[in-house]
Amino acid sequence: MKATKTPIAIVGLGKIALDQHVPSITASPAFRLAAVVSRNAGLEDLPFYHSLKDLLANEPDISAVALCVPPQVRFELARMALEAGRHVLLEKPPGASLSEVEALRQIASRQNRVLFATWHSRFAKGVAPAKDWLANRVIHKVTITWREDVRRWHPGQQWIWQPGGLGVFDPGINALSILTEILPDPVHVTKADLEFPENCDTPIAARLSMQGPGELQVQADFDFRQTGPQSWDIKVETADGQLLLKGGGAELTINGESQTKGDALESEYDGIYAHFAGLLKAGKSDVDTAPLCHAADAFLLGRRITTDAFHD
Ligand code: NAP
Repeated sequence: MKATKTPIAIVGLGKIALDQHVPSITASPAFRLAAVVSRNAGLEDLPFYHSLKDLLANEPDISAVALCVPPQVRFELARMALEAGRHVLLEKPPGASLSEVEALRQIASRQNRVLFATWHSRFAKGVAPAKDWLANRVIHKVTITWREDVRRWHPGQQWIWQPGGLGVFDPGINALSILTEILPDPVHVTKADLEFPENCDTPIAARLSMQGPGELQVQADFDFRQTGPQSWDIKVETADGQLLLKGGGAELTINGESQTKGDALESEYDGIYAHFAGLLKAGKSDVDTAPLCHAADAFLLGRRITTDAFHD
């Protein structure tokens, strides 16, 4: 007998919803895209609502929602959906603050609903094999280089520059999500330099130092001003040689030998929806705030440097 697909709605029809969520839900054996909530756009042949409140009132059979809106407006929507008895998938970062994510975790538990705080980069092809290889190794040093052109990847996204939008930590937190997945032991931020454009509330560049057990040192360089080739790389130096993750976690090389190849984002969202289906089946939430903790610590410890104004 064929299993029934879970009806799910997308909330916020922006870049990531259109590029990744719509195709992955359409291809998913576990979900059926049943409606969209958008302030101004719809999708052909699908029910369309201007607000989540309207969707919840009119679609009692849609049991899950995927929130693809900016972090600053996610909490109220997630709370509303959970309190209406729906399961919730959160785009990354799971919230604009740690305490709001904790509040959502408690609401989900009280409502007996599944809350999934996604970290898409953890589903990149090279991440699981990198984690396996590092599991029992002595790690000396990790170097993260996450430099991209904000005008190319985030054109017109004003929310990134507003409080809660994270600035360069919007992509940088993807590196932190991989780091916290592949390292066998925890690390913590010891120092951060944050460069804020004089007309923005979030940083355009950040350099972080972190420390782990033994000699382990982590250096991270996040920059939104990279033109030309883009870098989403993590280099790990161990007692048994070097592991290199490139392309946002898609390409893995160990001691010069290629293990996986691919593009950033490729198949990550198929993995996200497969994992969400497993969580629904098990009735379990998955809310790991470790990457957001590191970003928050960088803001707590960071030295603020004012730099040139940014104009999109
Ligand atoms: P985006 O293109 O700006 O889309 C966000 C959508 O959210 C908007 O199009 C809008 O859709 C809706 N929205 C509701 N309230 C809003 C508000 N106050 N301000 C702006 N938009 C509002 O952003 P995105 O790149 O898709 O990113 C959304 C989330 O996904 C972010 O947390 C980001 O970190 C994450 N993400 C993005 C990427 C990427 O490559 N872009 C990759 C992975 C994860 P309607 O007009 O339909 O209401």
